[in-house]
Amino acid sequence: MANVDPEHSAVAGHIARSACPGCGSDGPFSLHSEAKVDPKRLSELTFASRKAPELMHHRLVTCPACELLFANPIPSTDAVEHAYAEASFDSADEARYASRTYALLVDRLRRSLPDSDGVLDIGTGEGSFLEELEGRGFSGLVGVEPSAAPVGAAKPAVRAMIRQEPFDPRAFEPASFALVTCFQTLEHVFEPGALVRGVFGLLKPGGAFVAVCHDRRAPANRILGRKSPIFDIEHLQLFSSGSGRTLLAQAGYERVHASRIINRYPIHYWAKLLPVPGGRKASLVESLRRSAVGRAAVGLPAGNQVLFGFKPHAQP
Ligand SMILES: [Zn+2]
Repeated sequence: MANVDPEHSAVAGHIARSACPGCGSDGPFSLHSEAKVDPKRLSELTFASRKAPELMHHRLVTCPACELLFANPIPSTDAVEHAYAEASFDSADEARYASRTYALLVDRLRRSLPDSDGVLDIGTGEGSFLEELEGRGFSGLVGVEPSAAPVGAAKPAVRAMIRQEPFDPRAFEPASFALVTCFQTLEHVFEPGALVRGVFGLLKPGGAFVAVCHDRRAPANRILGRKSPIFDIEHLQLFSSGSGRTLLAQAGYERVHASRIINRYPIHYWAKLLPVPGGRKASLVESLRRSAVGRAAVGLPAGNQVLFGFKPHAQP
């Protein structure tokens, strides 16, 4: 049985999974890759968003039912929540670029939303996406973010909309949000299936859930193979368009959609993501950061996808 094998645990306190965290299938799961972890490199930055890739990952297995790739065994919830709470934050600039990309995705489905009141952003970071939506006339904005450092970096007006805590659907009024968003976060949570079911209960009839996550089958990730930055110690699962659609459809969403997106970032940020280790990249990134060329923003298909689905108007 590939799915219950605590012997392969690379870090103390790991727990074997007996069900797929996406679709709930009980396997049997097939081994994708053994864990690759260097405890000496488990730095503070390992749990920060948009950091340079470290090419470490958990032991990964594939679900035969929904093709989700997920960590098995997984580290303990306490250890990871503590790591996120303490993670450093060094990417406010990049967060603003990402938020603009995500706001354009919301623009595309805005006319399908029941109204513009009530938006919850899960994993909101320093809240730049909330700011984008406020500028577009959305109201009732709230973000949740477990890490203290990005919340501390939020502008004062945005800070008031952010709760520094992990997402828990019980903390919110059922059927109170027109839109719930979750960007570059689905890979990081322990139970993505539970998350999308929890969100479903919080949406108004006709409301939408929108997520952006990696697509492990996208060309950028296929070309890089195991050297892709998606193979990361922070990622507890990796979706494809198929496993993403299954995740939402199983939770009851309708008009479920998955498609690849173009991300827009400054050139120095793209350079930071290159899968080359060490000091030469650091000096390249630094000199690009100081040059006009390096600060120019370009859009690239970086292997991300948007997933969305709507809560049906009429509940069965
Ligand atoms: Zn599955």
